[in-house]
Amino acid sequence: MNPDPTPLIDIAVATIKENADELTALDQAIGDGDHGINMRRGFSALEASRAELGDMPLGAALQKAGMTLVMTIGGASGPLYGSLLMGLGKALPADPDAAAIARAVEQGVAAVKRRGKADVGAKTLLDVLIPMAEALRAGADQGVDSSTLLAQLALTAEQGLEATRPMQATKGRASFLGERSIGHLDPGAASSCLLIKAICAQLETQT
Ligand code: ADP
Ligand code: MG
Repeated sequence: MNPDPTPLIDIAVATIKENADELTALDQAIGDGDHGINMRRGFSALEASRAELGDMPLGAALQKAGMTLVMTIGGASGPLYGSLLMGLGKALPADPDAAAIARAVEQGVAAVKRRGKADVGAKTLLDVLIPMAEALRAGADQGVDSSTLLAQLALTAEQGLEATRPMQATKGRASFLGERSIGHLDPGAASSCLLIKAICAQLETQT
């Protein structure tokens, strides 16, 4: 599988633009109310380089997109999303099979863990990314067909997002609220969930 990057960029950009206000509202509840604004700035920069990215092999395009996000999103989430895409792109071979994609996603998620000094349970985007990477690994190991696997990944992302609601944040700005962070969805987990669902839906049309 070697998907064309351009439709993936387009769907990611459209998803962030459509949901920026909702992401900002989530960040108003437990942060400083800028997550949607930050993400829209970063993904608008990706949109501006879409033609250039589209001409590159997927791994190189992901690394370049990651650098663009680091430079443009700002906040805590810029370096985290940047690390994800750079780690993923660096580990992705040309023409990867499911096992190679799973390995590359694991590398990207490991880079986010290192950057954020965080793990599952801290009420961050890692509560979506880590279970998604694990589901991808399990599906690849079991030889699950790609349609089933894409649906599983989208469901895992939704469950990961919902799991952040009862958590008390221990990383990032939301941790300043202590117990008052309980009962709200994490904004970064929400943006990750939206992006994963959109990308899975797009890949389903490309398989
Ligand atoms: P900022 O917190 O600087 O305003 P954003 O609002 O853009 O940045 O992003 C906030 C999101 O970043 C949080 O919802 C959370 O998912 C994620 N985040 C913050 N700190 C960390 C961390 N140390 N590790 C992992 N994710 C984090
Ligand atoms: Mg914020």
